[in-house]
Amino acid sequence: MSLSALFKNIWPFVRPYRLLVVLTLALTMVGSLAAQVNAWVLRYAVDQIAALLDAHKGLAEGVNILLTITVILIGKELLNTAVQYGQKLYGEKLRIYVSRDLAQAVIEKVMTYRLAFFTTGGNQSGKLQTRIDRGIESLSKLVQSFFIDILPLFASSVVALVMMFQANVWVGLVGLCIIPIYFWVSTVQANKLKGTRRNIKDLREVKSQGILSIFDSITVIKSFTREELEARRQLGLQLDLTEAQMKTRRINFLFDGMKSFIEQIGVVLIIILTAYLVLTGQMTIGAIMFHILLFNNVTAPIRQLHRIYDQMNDALIYSESFFDTLNADHQIEPSGTYKPERIKGHFSLRDVDFTYPDNPLPTLQDITMEICPGKITALVGLSGAGKSTLINLLDKFYVPDKGEILLDGVSLAEYDTDTLRDNIGLVLQKNHIFNGTVMENIRYGNPDATQEQVEAAARSAYLHDQIEALSEGYDSPATKLSGGQQQKIAIARMFLKNPPIVFLDEPTASLDAISTEQIKASLDAIKQNRTVVIISHSISQIIDSDTIWVMQKGRIVEHGTHDELHHIPNGTYRSIFDAMARSLNIDKITKSLND
Ligand code: ATP
Repeated sequence: MSLSALFKNIWPFVRPYRLLVVLTLALTMVGSLAAQVNAWVLRYAVDQIAALLDAHKGLAEGVNILLTITVILIGKELLNTAVQYGQKLYGEKLRIYVSRDLAQAVIEKVMTYRLAFFTTGGNQSGKLQTRIDRGIESLSKLVQSFFIDILPLFASSVVALVMMFQANVWVGLVGLCIIPIYFWVSTVQANKLKGTRRNIKDLREVKSQGILSIFDSITVIKSFTREELEARRQLGLQLDLTEAQMKTRRINFLFDGMKSFIEQIGVVLIIILTAYLVLTGQMTIGAIMFHILLFNNVTAPIRQLHRIYDQMNDALIYSESFFDTLNADHQIEPSGTYKPERIKGHFSLRDVDFTYPDNPLPTLQDITMEICPGKITALVGLSGAGKSTLINLLDKFYVPDKGEILLDGVSLAEYDTDTLRDNIGLVLQKNHIFNGTVMENIRYGNPDATQEQVEAAARSAYLHDQIEALSEGYDSPATKLSGGQQQKIAIARMFLKNPPIVFLDEPTASLDAISTEQIKASLDAIKQNRTVVIISHSISQIIDSDTIWVMQKGRIVEHGTHDELHHIPNGTYRSIFDAMARSLNIDKITKSLND
């Protein structure tokens, strides 16, 4: 990203605080003018004292000079303290406000992106988090440095340079010659660091993703005692990162040393030149201190420039991916405008093909099917057949590559996405439980629900009694509940939402036998007058459904009722069903039940 593009992107976030910028700039200007006072005062003091000494006068005559100096210096310092307080406070305020707005903007924007954005490799949660955090940090620092530091630094430097020229053209020229050399060295330094910085950024993202994935899989890691393997993997990343960081430091220290050297050469030249001017009687002795301090005022801000240069380069690297994330408008979920008052829930799929963005193989092919309201439709197939993907398309999480999906005769693409999803209840095999209480988690299904409504939903999900038995009841932290109980929370959430369309993707997979039976009963209740699509490997749930669609390798291969399908010799459904039945050890179960 170029510098101008960076500022074009960041300006909308700074604009609301432009008054703050102007105020802080004004304060800093005052500060930079005040910074020149020392040089004047020192020259005045040295010249006056030298004159007194020449006239063989002593302390009695010098008191006035000391008093004047004291008043000026203390007055200047008081002003400086006030200015610095205001400058730092407003500067920080600007940084904090901009960083807050950037964080809010990016999170609001990212939530509007289609699901595919989050599942593609470069956007895994750890990487995305680091990209956002680092982007915000470096951008807000840059804003503070640029608007609050760099302009006043330049001003201060220019003021000091003008004074040097005023004092003597040759002295001014020495100051002026040093600046471009300094700039040039800084530019070479920045160019040398460019690739390394980008490398560090990528490594940081991968490292964060690695750490997150360790925490996510800690149980598996421990059960396979793979702690050492994971630690070695992290160590590899750490070593690469250390190498890149050390390279940055080596380059920085080398160039910093060069810049200090250049500066010292400037100081030596100023001393020699001024000493010559003093010795040839063209200046008073106070000029030596005066010129050195002015030169210091020219170089001090330029020394700071290096820090800003660093920040600017960091911001250029991190802002690129940050703004790519913030401005990925092509990733915004598509939404139509159709908002029907009531959705009946009749889906028709016509020749639908679908391939995941980062998967070379097609996942769904030639899917043509009907899903009718008031009926239970089961999707049956081996793992990887594409059942969950089909539900992803019906929920509009993904859009078909070919073909069309109609809901109540209208293309799904024309539906307002929020309206559509407000009418769909989705229960997955593993449901997400948010940090918070059981009450808050169930209420997620309907934020306006009363306590009674939440309890009624929990009762329908056969969860109420279990919650009541907890010491904190509905105020218990939901994440502490068992997997099965968490699953019931997800089901209660759906009861509370009460949508006309329900998708159940192996909803009882993590439940015990009693809970499965209870949930089956409550799901039977919710199925009334709704469109229900269920993916299940449970025989009882499949048998109960009105229509069964059998999938194999992304295609529909059979459909019908259980009886129809089971009568197809060598049929896919029959082979899956029989295998399910055998795995249940039906003979022994029947024998036990008969005993
Ligand atoms: P299961 O019964 O095991 O849940 P399924 O029939 O629901 O399986 P899907 O989850 O729909 O199968 O997956 C179908 C195919 O799509 C699989 O080959 C899978 O690897 C692939 N797939 C699923 N999700 C993604 C994704 N986000 N990106 C790329 N490929 C994916």
